[in-house]
Amino acid sequence: MTTDDQQALGHWINGEHCTSAGGATFTVFNPSDDSPFSVVAEGSAVEMDLAVQAAHDAFQTYRHTSVNERERWLANAAAMLEERKAEFVDLLIDEAGSAISKAQFETGKAVSFIRAAIGMVRQVSGKTLPSDYPGRISLTWREPRGVVAVITPFNVPLIKASRLCANALATGSTVVMLPSEHTPVIALKFAELLSEAGFPDGAVNVVAGDGYTIGDSLVTHPLVRSVTFTGSTVVGKHIQQLCARDNKHVTLELGGKNPLVILNDATLSDAVQGAVRGMFMHQGQACISSSRIYVQKGIYPEFIKAYTGAVSKLGVGDLRDPATIIGPIISDRQRERIKRHIRDAQDKGANIVVGGDWEGNRCHPTVLTNVTEDMECHAEETFGPVVSVYQVEDLDEGLVAANNSRYGLSSAIYTNDFNSALRYARAIESGMVHVNGPSVTDEAHVPFGGVGDSGFGREGTEADIDALTELKWVTMQTKT
Ligand code: NAD
Repeated sequence: MTTDDQQALGHWINGEHCTSAGGATFTVFNPSDDSPFSVVAEGSAVEMDLAVQAAHDAFQTYRHTSVNERERWLANAAAMLEERKAEFVDLLIDEAGSAISKAQFETGKAVSFIRAAIGMVRQVSGKTLPSDYPGRISLTWREPRGVVAVITPFNVPLIKASRLCANALATGSTVVMLPSEHTPVIALKFAELLSEAGFPDGAVNVVAGDGYTIGDSLVTHPLVRSVTFTGSTVVGKHIQQLCARDNKHVTLELGGKNPLVILNDATLSDAVQGAVRGMFMHQGQACISSSRIYVQKGIYPEFIKAYTGAVSKLGVGDLRDPATIIGPIISDRQRERIKRHIRDAQDKGANIVVGGDWEGNRCHPTVLTNVTEDMECHAEETFGPVVSVYQVEDLDEGLVAANNSRYGLSSAIYTNDFNSALRYARAIESGMVHVNGPSVTDEAHVPFGGVGDSGFGREGTEADIDALTELKWVTMQTKT
């Protein structure tokens, strides 16, 4: 896609593209070289209101659609996305700066998330209950909440759009999505696909624009009943306050500084592989990347050697080459943050064992040792290919260090000792923990989410039936 003689791609409202009042647009850049990738309508509170109104109107009939219809539309959407995989892989490469392996992985996951949502449709159910009162029939059922605001980040735009839209639609709600200003085209194309799959006009709407300026108009809109946000902790807390004020349901999937502990008895090759995969997918721009690695002293020298060897071999070439793992960092703001963290660590005495340098918008995978608590990269999310490796005496020290964080999203441990694995899994303060597997992993039906500054609530097919529906108690008095 180029910006020459091209009309701006419009918002997706009530089943069609539309421009902004006043014709405002903004340019989306390809992060590989900052060349213009697309021009997109730039929304304001006016378009947000139109989109929410469309979703609200659609909800009045959509909530009564049959399970057969919703299953069929979801099944169509999964099949169409699978068929059009190459198109979305291209978008993920050119708009989001994904290496082809990540783009293919993300598209495959998106298909699996939509398929899993088909199963949710018939799971939205209630219970019959006993009653204190003779002749009373007492039961519960679940009702869709109504208009759900879906706010998504730049790093996994299709995974988040597919899971959150599919789960909301499966449970009978309608959606207004606000995608990251860096990746609106993926969201707009995905909404078009859902419409082609059969979802009625207004069931899914997308408003593009700067979330910082227009996000509040979505979150605080009186017809929005529930908010599901994925993004930075600072924005998430702001949204949580707005939702608390208006008593709206909110799910927050936020940042992470995820620990990986490697004990002396771990299988070294597995641990190295897990530490590479768990850290450098999408050049470290993953909420669940293991950016803190705690290695027990006995295996530390061997691990550092093998890990830095593997890290320095990660491909930094053409994004369409399957050997490439490290792509560009999305924006100047994120690039500056990564540079600041590396500079700060270096100034305060950290060792850069490998990496630290840049090639255009790409930061070479960077392994730091000697990282201390006063360094920004120690506790803050860098959201780039920068990892700190620490030596620890034993599991106890590893656990204390791993838990010394305001975040608590994912975590991992490599060990062949059952008791150590279980102790870690029990004591680690995180929403997810993986034994002998990387911190970067997700499946459609699992409760995905974190504690502390990493989030509030969980997402996933089972969790979203709770999150996206309201439980109602119903009684019917009969004559005994
Ligand atoms: P971000 O917080 O800058 O933006 C996320 C979304 O929020 C965007 O769509 C943006 O438009 C919108 N937004 C910004 N201000 C808003 C406001 N006032 N009201 C409503 N919406 C607003 O995050 P980002 O840079 O796009 O993504 C990176 C962050 O996301 C990292 O911290 C990462 O860890 C986190 N993340 C978390 C998960 C998870 O599942 N826990 C997954 C992916 C990314």
